[in-house]
Amino acid sequence: MSNRKFHVIIVGASIAGLTLAHCLSSANVDFTILEARASQITQGTGLVLQPNGARILDQLGLYDKVLRQAARIVSYTTYFDSGRLLLDIDTRHLTSRRTGYPLSIISRQALLSILFDYLPRQDRIRFNKKVIQVTPSAREVTVHTADGSQVSGDIVVGADGVHSIVRSQMWQYIQSNRHAARFFLAREIPQKTSFAGVFGTADPVPGLKAGVVYRTFGVGWVMLIMVGKDAQVFWFISIAWPHTSRQAWRRQQGKTSVAPLMAPFLDKHVSGEVTFMEIYDRTSSFTFVPLEESFQNQWSAGRFACIGDATTPNIGQGANCAIETAASVGNCIVLASKTDAPWTEAYLESRLQTWENKYRGRMRLFSWVSHSVARVEAGGNWWLRLLRSYFGYYHSAMGIALLGDLTPQTAQVQHLSLPSRRPAVPKSRSDPQERNWSVRFSGVPVVSTMIVALLFIVQSLTRPKDGGVN
Ligand SMILES: Cc1cc2nc3c(=O)[nH]c(=O)nc-3n(C[C@H](O)[C@H](O)[C@H](O)COP(=O)(O)OP(=O)(O)OC[C@H]3O[C@@H](n4cnc5c(N)ncnc54)[C@H](O)[C@@H]3O)c2cc1C
Repeated sequence: MSNRKFHVIIVGASIAGLTLAHCLSSANVDFTILEARASQITQGTGLVLQPNGARILDQLGLYDKVLRQAARIVSYTTYFDSGRLLLDIDTRHLTSRRTGYPLSIISRQALLSILFDYLPRQDRIRFNKKVIQVTPSAREVTVHTADGSQVSGDIVVGADGVHSIVRSQMWQYIQSNRHAARFFLAREIPQKTSFAGVFGTADPVPGLKAGVVYRTFGVGWVMLIMVGKDAQVFWFISIAWPHTSRQAWRRQQGKTSVAPLMAPFLDKHVSGEVTFMEIYDRTSSFTFVPLEESFQNQWSAGRFACIGDATTPNIGQGANCAIETAASVGNCIVLASKTDAPWTEAYLESRLQTWENKYRGRMRLFSWVSHSVARVEAGGNWWLRLLRSYFGYYHSAMGIALLGDLTPQTAQVQHLSLPSRRPAVPKSRSDPQERNWSVRFSGVPVVSTMIVALLFIVQSLTRPKDGGVN
């Protein structure tokens, strides 16, 4: 082992970057975080923390702090925009019975504050450091920031979100090494934007209860209202954008710029009694963002690695995937840093390749599920609306419970022990809810295939239409 310390440069101090910093810090691996923002204050609304993300935070000693800021989800309701109820699922034991971790709603800022406040080496975070270039060499990698400073290390990890500069610099590196057989087939996947998202945070609304998720199905859109701790309301509307629209897609903030987009939603029902207008009137922050989706087939090359939204931006599981990819690359880096082998580019690349090959399939599944669910839920045409009513009614509970389930493939922090948190109610084969799932699950392939085949036949006889807000 070398006498100098292995040094990791993390770009981005958000969910992925800070989780990785905790993993490295707990293994005594040196790191520097470069963050473009001026402070740890950021934007966003609420996140649903699932067992896969929760268990990693638990290993890092953060989960009890998270629970104090979160609301446990007790019910997941689905309405049509007319106010008609499709389904109300009691979620109290849906995941905690299986895993020991309930589904919880937490504000994005609260989660980031916990990750920041309890990081033992806060002095390693440098704000106001926008990364503009990464230059790898045989011995190290150097990261350059807009203010003219630079930091060198053994590995650079891009935790810098969907428009990752580290990812684009990694592709420049791959282009300049195209002759290498390992990069012959590598292709960067362009971002696709088929949906726009509008989100905000509102003061408590009479009739909306803490711990309840209200989902409303519209025509070409789906609305998700999550009521968190102290009945704070986090809302998010995902809108299928008509391909014919010539309106420019750019991030917009503030009530005046976002308000015109909100007009069609104001009279839509969130529950039987509450309309979106009541939430809108109590909202303090409004943001409109194009929702980029893509799944990158290449997460690492040379001394570069990318995690979180830089690799797997998706509409449904972004935060939990960010935590999982951070923990898994953390395991790889900790092992590499403790080895006797010299930290050459070839050695580090082969370790990162092993990490990537192990987790890419799992993250691809999350990405595919979230891609499909986003389209079915938005119901851009009549057969998608039929499909969402069918899946929404029969398979919502199973989908919610299994998506973030703990399996042998779920990432964990390998150098930390697994918490002794036990399921609130022991999981058993005679569990009536799970028995019910298995009956439904066995029927899914047959019934779904018949429905989809029928819908395809009928749809092919009609002209396809773009989604939009009706
Ligand atoms: C503003 C915002 C609000 C969101 N709100 C929600 C929400 O309410 N609910 C939800 O489920 N999901 C939300 N998401 C998505 C969810 O938070 C992400 O899926 C998750 O945060 C992914 O984490 P990440 O750390 O990979 O990337 P991000 O959270 O996107 O963080 C990337 C970080 O990198 C920094 N960065 C970017 N470029 C550079 C650079 N060149 N140099 C240095 N630093 C750089 C950014 O400032 C940011 O701090 C939001 C994302 C954003 C960006």
